[in-house]
Amino acid sequence: MKLLQLLNYELSWHDREKWDRAVHLMERFFEESRAELAPVGEKARIVKFGIDAVDAFIQVNTAVVCPRCESVCCINKHGYYDFEDLIYIFSLGAKPPRYKEGVLDTDSCQFISRQGCTIERAVRPFRCNWHFCNALLNNIEEGPARPYREFVKRFEEVMDLRSEMLGDFFKSLRSAG
Ligand code: SF4
Ligand code: SF4
Repeated sequence: MKLLQLLNYELSWHDREKWDRAVHLMERFFEESRAELAPVGEKARIVKFGIDAVDAFIQVNTAVVCPRCESVCCINKHGYYDFEDLIYIFSLGAKPPRYKEGVLDTDSCQFISRQGCTIERAVRPFRCNWHFCNALLNNIEEGPARPYREFVKRFEEVMDLRSEMLGDFFKSLRSAG
């Protein structure tokens, strides 16, 4: 199966054959198309910079809300990369982690620790960074207005740039045949 056919929301680590094939083909594509993919890598680095820039703001808010949460959202099924995360990770020159066998989707996430997530924010599954439960959202909205506005602006920039990055990647993939 070709890489283009594998990169969609059905791609899951649970279907190991397809997942390993996709990872293998991604490695090959990035090796063989280094020059063509350079602008994609550049956009991925700016996305990472944007997420790094909002880390402290999110952290300040989760530090207030999450320790008293009775229904922690970090279950294992959220901890896996999807195909868009894979594109981003490879564009940064990184690789997906080796996931643990035998952890149920409904178990606590394999990356959670007492101090919170063990994965650097900018390379977590994208869904993890933009999940705001009501309690977290309320805390953010009740805080000072200026940092909140800056956060929203940065958030929108990251979303736009990530879409562009993914679009550029698929353009290169299609033109590679
Ligand atoms: S983000 Fe919300 S649901 Fe998730 S752990 Fe924090 S308070 Fe709980
Ligand atoms: S934020 Fe980290 S610990 Fe929570 S679900 Fe995502 S990867 Fe797992």
